[in-house]
Amino acid sequence: MTSRTQGELSNEYEFQTMSIAALRKSLAAGETTPARVLEDLAAKIPETDAHIGAYLSHDLEAALAEAAAADLSLPLGGIPIGLKDNINVLGQPCTCGSKFLAENYKSPYDATVVRKLRAAGAIPFGRLNQDEFAMGSSTENSALQVTRNPHDPERIPGGSSGGSAASVASGTAIATLGSDTGGSIRQPASHCGVVGLKPSYGRVSRYGLVAFASSLDQIGPLTTTVEDAALVLQAIAGHDPNDTTSLDVPVPDYLAGLHDGVAGLKLGVPSEYFGDGIDPGVRSLVETAIQKLAAQGAEIVPISLPHTQYAVAAYYVIAPAEASSNLSRFDGIRYGHRTSNPSDILDLYRKSREEGFGSEVKRRIILGTYVLSSGYYEAYYGHAQKVRTLIRKDFETAFQNVDAIVSPVAPTPARKIGACEGDPLLDYLSDIFTISANLAGIPGISVPCGTCDFDGGSKLPVGIQILGPHFGEAKLLQVAKAAE
Ligand code: GLN
Repeated sequence: MTSRTQGELSNEYEFQTMSIAALRKSLAAGETTPARVLEDLAAKIPETDAHIGAYLSHDLEAALAEAAAADLSLPLGGIPIGLKDNINVLGQPCTCGSKFLAENYKSPYDATVVRKLRAAGAIPFGRLNQDEFAMGSSTENSALQVTRNPHDPERIPGGSSGGSAASVASGTAIATLGSDTGGSIRQPASHCGVVGLKPSYGRVSRYGLVAFASSLDQIGPLTTTVEDAALVLQAIAGHDPNDTTSLDVPVPDYLAGLHDGVAGLKLGVPSEYFGDGIDPGVRSLVETAIQKLAAQGAEIVPISLPHTQYAVAAYYVIAPAEASSNLSRFDGIRYGHRTSNPSDILDLYRKSREEGFGSEVKRRIILGTYVLSSGYYEAYYGHAQKVRTLIRKDFETAFQNVDAIVSPVAPTPARKIGACEGDPLLDYLSDIFTISANLAGIPGISVPCGTCDFDGGSKLPVGIQILGPHFGEAKLLQVAKAAE
């Protein structure tokens, strides 16, 4: 397999992942075969992933059986795609990073994205670590294993799709899918130096994604290039009768305008995303990336998203509220872990949940149950919904004047593993630049824009975030391509 080295990003690891686009050419030319690609990846996993911990499991045999029938004429023909471990693939484990599902759960069906990937010729390969039920920004909340940042193994890969980002960054995956409820695709992409796209709410079916917060969750790709993100989105986007929140809007050709550049486009720079608390290294890299877009002909427009300061508070009411409801299905009866020797049915529920869930998941369930409880509902949940509307309106107003918004993805590069232990609020606050897009339902992408030093670490990747209006993925990708 020929390789593409990710330039200045490489230090400890070789970062040799071929892009989907390059691999397609290589497959078409007969230089390699889908089976060889899979075997190469599987051979890398024991050595490379022993240090990174991105993979929870993989089934080479099952993938090879699919590879034997791969149709190379399809858009993703023969391309292996890794999956965050909250996306169902028939017969495979789907642990959600939780002890609850790790013991004995096997998916009874394919998620729609998996069905669509297969229809485009891709081969689902590998289950990737994540924060338990996608709650977190570091992958430290996985109950199953630690995942390390390939650029500095003492640091987090970000999260919650940490395995999806770290596998692509360390060359053990070509491309992966993650899920993003408040930043979980974009932030790990930024921390690991790969591309991560959260589509608009309703663009990609959530059927078969284990729900965290149903009004915020979206599945999207993590890839080495913007073009690859477009290729994967093309395959997974579209209406699905099994997900009534997926919209019946035609899927445009995401590759058609990819190289059209940014000349004449207006890019908004929100003052609220460049205030106190942002690391100087991150700020300077993002500002430089914006200047480069200006040099390519984009008009840079200062804008305001005035309700940004309330986003974290609103999100950490709405997301736990929905989670507390979604996770009530894990009761020890139907899915996963069941306590042994319960005294009665209530004891069975209580002990199964007590034993099966980790502390962050319990914290969210308690929070969510509280904000939904009678007497507090209006003060917390009702209020948060009003803030959500204001945030959505901020974006609607902004997009009347600009084509896209550019900002940092996260206030700092990847922190050290363990640095926020015992203080979850620190991590919650670091979601400030990604959460609003989920509350508003708009698409966002993280594109690597360089590396900087931070907290004793050197050459840590940083991403620039580009946000677009609802269903504006085509132009978003066009700006992302120019920023790449
Ligand atoms: N960090 C956020 C949280 O913990 C977002 C997680 C996500 O997008 N899945 O809720």
